[in-house]
Amino acid sequence: MTARLAAVLWDMDGTLLDSEKLWDIGVRELSVHLGGEMTDETRHALIGSAIPTSLQIIFQGLGLDPSPSRMAEAETWLNRRVTELMSGPIPWRPGARDALAAVRAAGLRTALVTNTQRTITELCLDTLGRAYFDVSVCGDEVAHGKPAPDPYLSAAELLGVAPERCVAIEDSPTGSASAAAAGCAVLVIPCEIPVPAQPRYTFRDSLIDLSVADLEAIRRAA
Ligand SMILES: [Mg+2]
Repeated sequence: MTARLAAVLWDMDGTLLDSEKLWDIGVRELSVHLGGEMTDETRHALIGSAIPTSLQIIFQGLGLDPSPSRMAEAETWLNRRVTELMSGPIPWRPGARDALAAVRAAGLRTALVTNTQRTITELCLDTLGRAYFDVSVCGDEVAHGKPAPDPYLSAAELLGVAPERCVAIEDSPTGSASAAAAGCAVLVIPCEIPVPAQPRYTFRDSLIDLSVADLEAIRRAA
């Protein structure tokens, strides 16, 4: 007899918000600022990554020396540009708003679990609504970001629930790997790039009409 679903752990960029498109503008402009156009291969490797990892991938792709001072300058530049982009209205992913409300109405515990840093996440929470989340965990608040399990382990601990009783909802290979490594069932709704099937993953095309009964079934199946 397994315990019931206790919590839903939401990824942010590409899952709840269509914000990967804003990140896309930021990282492509950063690449040009650093000296060259970004290849699609580099762009795809960035999806779901935290900024320190993203910068390493961008520098490597451009063949640049990742000296601490150049990396720090690039990080400041990217943070400033993405903050500008995220200060306007951010579009939702299809069905996300209703799915958040349905989970909330069912009385499940909820967390926002993102590789994005706290300052930018707070701008996104203005769009999302803070009342939908009991806790939030950001990329700069854990030792290792996704794909390491740390963000999801931290969220489950803050909620006081076992990861095995949680469903994580993700759009990227990086984020899905993090949630599965933490022991969560993973509902995968790919956004920008395909996600290869893995144990514990259940796939859907969108969040439209997602019910709590669907989430219970996903947890039982994992
Ligand atoms: Mg994502």
